[in-house]
Amino acid sequence: MDFQRRGVMLVIASPSGAGKSSISRSLFGADPNIKLSVSVTTRARRTDEVHGKHYYFIDVPAFEKMRHDGELLESAEVHGNFYGTPRAHVEEQLAAGNDILFDIDYQGTLQLYEKARADMVTVFILPPSIKELRARLERRAQDSVGTIDKRLRNARIEMDHYGEYDYVIVNRDLEESVARVRAILAAARLKRERQLNLPSFVRDLQSQIDSL
Ligand code: 5GP
Repeated sequence: MDFQRRGVMLVIASPSGAGKSSISRSLFGADPNIKLSVSVTTRARRTDEVHGKHYYFIDVPAFEKMRHDGELLESAEVHGNFYGTPRAHVEEQLAAGNDILFDIDYQGTLQLYEKARADMVTVFILPPSIKELRARLERRAQDSVGTIDKRLRNARIEMDHYGEYDYVIVNRDLEESVARVRAILAAARLKRERQLNLPSFVRDLQSQIDSL
């Protein structure tokens, strides 16, 4: 039986190109209890991206206003652009018992730790090799060569932060990595403190014994 439970904030982070987006998409597509946190960003939209699905694309003044008004749960500058997590959607989904998947960088993860550590489970994805990382960035081909180099250099910095995550997965095979994240999420959902009606359930079992 499933108990009423408080949602898990699942953070998946990695250097760009390590396969995080593919893992997130697979997880999200197959499980109706997982909701995606759609970030706001000031980065230009790539041609295959949809406003409201991949990101909310906004300009810098609109971003500054949201941050100033406390509408962002966390925010950071990544690759020269601003990114942030809108607060309202996260709070609604957690209260409804849904899990939320965050695709945010280490700066955002550290900010969330300060606010919501008990609700969080964090996973860091590493590429199997730099050759593979570069190939994935080039296959994406949405970014110019200059941007790819910038992202590789940034990957090095991002990798310094693997130690701040609960779990680390080397993404050698997409299906295997998705199965591993699913196992992590399944265990997190079963944490005693997330199962909200456990005390009354146990009391009920005990009173049934008492009345035998
Ligand atoms: P991209 O521009 O490739 O979509 O994302 C670049 C980086 O920004 C990724 O590492 C991604 O995880 C991070 N990112 C995306 N949204 C957010 C956000 O709302 N907050 C933070 N802190 N990082 C984000």
